[in-house]
Amino acid sequence: MVSVSLKNIKKYYNQTLVLKDVNLDIMDGEFFILLGSSGSGKSTTLNIISGVDRQTSGDIFFDTQNVNNMGPVERNIAMVFQDYALYPHMTVYKNLAFPLKMRKVDRDSIEKKVNEVAEKLGLASLLNRYPKELSGGQAQRVALGRALVRDPSLFLLDEPLSNLDAKIRGQIRTELKLIQEDLKKTFIYVTHDQQEAMSLGDHIAILHNGRIEQFGKPLEIYKKPKTRYVAAFLGDPEMNFFDLKKNDGVFSNDDIDGVHIDYNGDEITLGIRPEDIMLKKQKDSNIGIKVIVRSVELFGSYAVIIADTLSGKELRIRTDNNVNVSREINVYIDRSSMLIFDKNGDVIDYENTKVIE
Ligand code: ADP
Ligand code: MG
Repeated sequence: MVSVSLKNIKKYYNQTLVLKDVNLDIMDGEFFILLGSSGSGKSTTLNIISGVDRQTSGDIFFDTQNVNNMGPVERNIAMVFQDYALYPHMTVYKNLAFPLKMRKVDRDSIEKKVNEVAEKLGLASLLNRYPKELSGGQAQRVALGRALVRDPSLFLLDEPLSNLDAKIRGQIRTELKLIQEDLKKTFIYVTHDQQEAMSLGDHIAILHNGRIEQFGKPLEIYKKPKTRYVAAFLGDPEMNFFDLKKNDGVFSNDDIDGVHIDYNGDEITLGIRPEDIMLKKQKDSNIGIKVIVRSVELFGSYAVIIADTLSGKELRIRTDNNVNVSREINVYIDRSSMLIFDKNGDVIDYENTKVIE
């Protein structure tokens, strides 16, 4: 087990700065998620942690030891990728045994370790199969097992489930979480999938254009995004945003009659999560929005209503499944569930704004 710290990591590829002063503290034994869209610098960060690639400047510590000058073998890490390649001409047993054989581990110890890992990953009955006789999920577990047999102190996983179909992905996700809890080893897991991040992570760092945009526990980030980018990135369907105009020193928007905000600036945007929009008024102070329903999609456990405000702005509403809505409805929001962003996309503390009733 090991804790990992990145201090002021910068990475240039040629003249392009792809990591801009990345700082991270990853705790011993946690499931840490690096979440970001494609091209944000996730793989670069992971490769630098592994020692496969080197930072241009900054320091990496494993516990208190600076590992800047250590290669991947010395760092004792295991990596699992999206494009895991199993050896096609070897059985599952031999695939699992291979890393140990390469390290000249004796036959009895190999057998013991392979069996132990196979048991843990539910592969015990598949040891004599060849990779082509495995499902995608089983093959991915073998890839993970191959990393496990070596007892590395740190696991680095780069979008390991992206190639699997949705159902298997969900299953393996659950298994992976259990395996990590059982092993109590540090996992650093890269993904662009917010659902994976929310369900697996003890902590999540959101990477955006080579910077850590926000770091925290999954629900904390979801409930208290610090930027509009993070607010929009997390949540399905996406958060609704309203640009507010300033008239006589007060911000308002014709669609949401009843919101008047006093703020010392030139632009603000209001953010409202689809699940925070109510179909019934709960309190007198709730703010009403008149909308025309465009579609209702049923997802089983919930429904998504897509509607248009009177000014033609799309509103996404997430509600329970047994909705029966007419074409023109009033929906409601509560002041407490609104987020306010300044023109740079940073969240504004409520203390700096005043709602005029
Ligand atoms: P992610 O894994 O989040 O999709 P990457 O870390 O792979 O992002 O890439 C981050 C940025 O660095 C991208 O703009 C990518 O084009 C660039 N990049 C990655 N690897 C190299 C490389 N070896 N040479 C030049 N540019 C690279
Ligand atoms: Mg990548």
